[in-house]
Amino acid sequence: RLSEKFVYEQRSVNSGGKIPLGLRRKGLRIVVTGGAGFVGSHLVDRLMERGDSVIVVDNFFTGRKENVMHHFGNPRFEMIRHDVVEPLLLEVDQIYHLACPASPVHYKFNPTNVVGTLNMLGLAKRVGARFLLTSTSEVYGDPLQHPQVETYWGNVNPIGVRSCYDEGKRTAETLAMDYHRGAGVEVRIARIFNTYGPRMCIDDGRVVSNFVAQALRKEPLTVYGDGKQTRSFQYVSDLVEGLMRLMEGEHVGPFNLGNPGEFTMLELAQVWHHLVGKPRVRFEPTASVVQETIDPNAKIEFRANTEDDPHKRKPDITKAKEQLGWEPKVALRKGLPLMVTDFRQRIFGDHKEGSS
Ligand code: NAD
Ligand code: UDP
Ligand code: UDP
Repeated sequence: RLSEKFVYEQRSVNSGGKIPLGLRRKGLRIVVTGGAGFVGSHLVDRLMERGDSVIVVDNFFTGRKENVMHHFGNPRFEMIRHDVVEPLLLEVDQIYHLACPASPVHYKFNPTNVVGTLNMLGLAKRVGARFLLTSTSEVYGDPLQHPQVETYWGNVNPIGVRSCYDEGKRTAETLAMDYHRGAGVEVRIARIFNTYGPRMCIDDGRVVSNFVAQALRKEPLTVYGDGKQTRSFQYVSDLVEGLMRLMEGEHVGPFNLGNPGEFTMLELAQVWHHLVGKPRVRFEPTASVVQETIDPNAKIEFRANTEDDPHKRKPDITKAKEQLGWEPKVALRKGLPLMVTDFRQRIFGDHKEGSS
């Protein structure tokens, strides 16, 4: 407690937020917007573990209290039901800004990316807090460069059905850089590539959550389009490590945070079939197995693809490796079973109905 008080006194003495790194570590007050969501709640766990005081700001649009309720009762933890589209007054040292309707089924109707980011930047400016934006690989649109490097400006349709997300995040990046250059706000920008793991929304339409829920419910796996489009899937603990390194480090970014392993949706479907459909079969996690032709028993249903669906996506993470000393550690084959366990429990309760 004393040391926390000391940090805040030091903070006001050292104007401009230049607290020595040693002091930064103890008792920081950190806001995580969207902290009741999938990525946010894992980040909150790490920050709480580190001894920081965490304020979650969430409107529970897709987030769930269950994701953070293990911290209820801890005096270092607070939760505020609040829509970041409305102004917010708090006194904090760091802001992790994750609040965003983040999946195609949710993001269409909401100005969170622009207005919410503006408000959180206004907050950062007023209190001298460091601000981290969780941007997205979607800023690259349907990329004409492969893999995507941070210097690539992207290929985004400004009026398509996905635009409010892509362009919303691009605008959020612009706002962050303007507040950085114009008002001296310390900003950090992460461009996150597809991330999966426990606590993902079950029915938000993303491919990984769809496949595992479908496989557990013994429904066909829905592959959109020809299934040859690629994505790179990162396990959530790797992302959280990258976000924290970025926040603590001296580089503004943007940084790609993603796992460079690239899979087609058909390959992903096959991995699920192995993991969920036949859990006792030892799955040899080599690329050649993943790339085998689809097991004829795996029920796959092809559906029309959504408009403007990017054909390829794979991060170039050289910059994050060099400047943040970060790279993902959890391979798809290691991360997927952890998510299957979580989904099995959430879909079937503690019974083993879903096991086969
Ligand atoms: P999520 O939907 O689980 O979490 C988002 C959280 O924000 C939810 O708890 C939701 O209730 C909250 N929220 C939404 N609108 C809000 C508002 N107006 N005010 C307050 N809270 C609000 O999604 P996630 O996967 O955890 O994504 C977190 C962040 O990471 C998002 O900014 C997303 O764009 C970014 N991102 C995620 C991925 C991924 O693959 N998961 C990829 C790229 C970028
Ligand atoms: N804002 C906020 N909390 C704060 C400070 C600002 O929510 O502690 C909001 C504020 O309401 C405004 C936005 O952030 O809508 C941008 O604030 P800024 O001070 O940069 O702009 P201004 O209010 O001068 O237009
Ligand atoms: N997709 C699919 N089946 C599904 C859901 C999605 O084949 O049930 C495809 C989708 O068309 C896209 C890819 O999987 O090509 C990744 O979609 P997701 O929404 O998970 O992420 P994003 O498009 O944002 O990368």
